[in-house]
Amino acid sequence: MICVAIANQKGGVGKTTTAINIATAMAASGWRTLLVDLDPQGNASTGLGIPTAERTHTSYDLLVEGSALPLCVKRTDIPNLDIVPATQDLSGAEVELVAVEDRVERLRRALSNADYDVCFVDCPPSLGLLTLNALGAADTLLVPLQCEFFALEGLSQLLQTVERVQERFNPRLGIVGIALTMFDRRNRLTDQVADDVRDCLGNLVFEHVIPRNVRLSEAPSHGLPALIYDHNCPGSRAYIGLARELIGRLPEQRKAA
Ligand code: ADP
Ligand code: MG
Repeated sequence: MICVAIANQKGGVGKTTTAINIATAMAASGWRTLLVDLDPQGNASTGLGIPTAERTHTSYDLLVEGSALPLCVKRTDIPNLDIVPATQDLSGAEVELVAVEDRVERLRRALSNADYDVCFVDCPPSLGLLTLNALGAADTLLVPLQCEFFALEGLSQLLQTVERVQERFNPRLGIVGIALTMFDRRNRLTDQVADDVRDCLGNLVFEHVIPRNVRLSEAPSHGLPALIYDHNCPGSRAYIGLARELIGRLPEQRKAA
């Protein structure tokens, strides 16, 4: 199994939307896919139609209680796509794990026997213990980056964290790519930011850019990935392209691992 963390400490940059739709695209291409919701807000769980009442075993149990993975997994309505849902309880994990010795390796342990082809971890908007667990478990990192003025500033902090994780507890962590999200062609600043990011980071930036598209934001309220809700909207088509690009890059990440 190859594990991809989807992280950026900024909120509202498209992490969850990217996680849901790329996971769906890969599941549809035949990859046995697991999505771990590691954000106490549980947006990925909601977006995949798992009601709160059905989140009896969650990523909290996986991390804090040491529950076995199969117990915490729920099927989604999408063939090949399972999820470990999250609830508010998870916000306590940051505090409860502080004194635990293997606190940054909980997720890696929990996933060590997982029987999937690929696992995505949807991270919360911080660089705390939850995100560190995701980076500790991951073979590689995918960073959604919103095309706005402060985008690059947050990125350098994230890349420093990646270096620290590589040095301290996960030398095999790679960066598979940076996905530009909420791109608005009519906004000159957006264009400028996208150009700057490409100048700065070159090939690390995925060619496929995710446009700002209201269908992407409507889909979660129906408990459906945009890819299912409206397969043909520009946002869905962009995510299908991004997923294909990601699949092309994964073998390299695997080799590095
Ligand atoms: P994060 O997980 O980084 O906090 P989300 O994926 O939840 O970000 O996105 C934040 C908000 O923006 C959500 O309401 C989501 O539906 C919306 N959104 C995400 N991507 C797009 C997009 N490309 N176009 C329009 N709305 C988007
Ligand atoms: Mg989110």
